[in-house]
Amino acid sequence: MDLKSQLPVLLPRAIEWAEAEERRVLASGTSLTDAELTVARSVGVSRPERVRVELVDAIPTPSDPLLQTAISETGMFGPNTRGLTLGYAIFIHHDARSRRLLSHELRHVHQYECAGSVAVFLPVYLSQIIELGYENAPFEIDARAHEQAGP
Ligand SMILES: [Zn+2]
Repeated sequence: MDLKSQLPVLLPRAIEWAEAEERRVLASGTSLTDAELTVARSVGVSRPERVRVELVDAIPTPSDPLLQTAISETGMFGPNTRGLTLGYAIFIHHDARSRRLLSHELRHVHQYECAGSVAVFLPVYLSQIIELGYENAPFEIDARAHEQAGP
């Protein structure tokens, strides 16, 4: 699949999925603890009280076959994926809850806040991944740079 040329088709579907997942977690997920609120503020989150975390056995992926194909080609989700942030919703694999992973995902929340919405953030983020690869995407480099050590 030529991901770049497929972006106009992929993006609306990806945004729709991400917004629906965010809504679901905001209704059912867990608020940050006081210590986690402090971590959130320290990585730049403006509204940490809005964040909800859902611990999962597997990071959710879209059921849309076209999105699934695109995701597998980018390599952005794999069996080793341990966290995913969609707006104020953070999915964390239950085996992987750590300050390092949470601070990384919270920096993505900050990035969403700067963008203003899921619909504005995702096109930029996905374009970075398609053009540069997951490891080299500037939003991932920035999130890694804000990871905090700790259990
Ligand atoms: Zn990341």
